[in-house]
Amino acid sequence: MSGIIQLLPDHVANQIAAGEVVQRPASVVKELMENAVDAKATEITLNIKDAGKTLIQVIDNGVGMNAFDARLCFARHATSKIRQAEDLFDLHTKGFRGEALASIAAIAHVELKTRQAQDELGQCIVIEGSKFISEEMAVVPKGTSFAIKNLFFNIPARRNFLKSDVVELRHIIDEFQRVAMAHPAIHFQLYHNNSEVFNLPSQNLRQRISGIFGGKTNEKLVPISEETDIVTIQGFVTKPEFAKKTRGEQFFFVNNRFIKSGYLHHAIMSAYEGLLKDGCQPGYFIYLSVPPQSIDINIHPTKTEIKFDDEHALYAYLRSSVKHSLGQFNVAPVLDFER
Ligand code: ADP
Ligand code: MG
Repeated sequence: MSGIIQLLPDHVANQIAAGEVVQRPASVVKELMENAVDAKATEITLNIKDAGKTLIQVIDNGVGMNAFDARLCFARHATSKIRQAEDLFDLHTKGFRGEALASIAAIAHVELKTRQAQDELGQCIVIEGSKFISEEMAVVPKGTSFAIKNLFFNIPARRNFLKSDVVELRHIIDEFQRVAMAHPAIHFQLYHNNSEVFNLPSQNLRQRISGIFGGKTNEKLVPISEETDIVTIQGFVTKPEFAKKTRGEQFFFVNNRFIKSGYLHHAIMSAYEGLLKDGCQPGYFIYLSVPPQSIDINIHPTKTEIKFDDEHALYAYLRSSVKHSLGQFNVAPVLDFER
């Protein structure tokens, strides 16, 4: 007996998954840069042409892939990062879904070059719209380069939906900065249309933040450091006098992954109570380390929202540690002369 239900072919399933994972060029930047970090690269270069509309290339000096993996990495649910469901609660990598490359290859032209240190020759693979175009051994540097061309070539609606180059480049720079901020020890470079936008040598966190947001940032920062039973809190908040009317630079990282959290944002705002002029917001760069078992990252494909076991305790610790640091640095309340 046969029914009306059919299994979708892989390339169709991949294209559907891509709709979730790849919203714009910046999403590709995020996925490729995170893969480079997971590959233990110490140098990562991002080359962008036309705000990612014609080229997004990430070059790393990480562990590379052998011939077998270089082909398999484009398969759906193919990952070297987890083996079983339990591993989801003990994650030490950025990736785990095994979906990014399959998705990207379904909606773009992709050229992969990769080589492991012990091999003399590496692999060069071209894949377009999930179809392998060519595969050959080649002389390539150690590590991996993914070049993504003509993103959304087969989804005109998505391509037309892209914003101006200025807007798309802004999103790319945002993703680049988030990954660079999460990994100050890694040397990151960003080029747009062959001109250098960022060159961030291996540095400490304070230097990295100033390297990204400008030398003047350094004097605005108040360090935070707190170790509790459930979380280690590190990073910086800005002195209240540098608060701005716009949201500006506000970042949370959990186990070196950028996340968004309205709840934790509130914890920080409440620590500044009485210290800010009306409508002004501080900057913050908060790094939380928690046991991997105490969070769930698998609640959204882009992984920028996560679930904490004990959100309330986290809130309280964060609030008190920011308050403490602001107090220690003799930050006086704003006197309301102006009103
Ligand atoms: P995930 O990162 O969730 O595992 P991806 O589709 O992003 O899924 O990548 C699939 C696999 O390809 C990874 O698990 C990894 O083994 C390999 N891979 C991807 N990018 C790189 C890279 N830059 N260097 C080495 N291996 C890589
Ligand atoms: Mg990945």
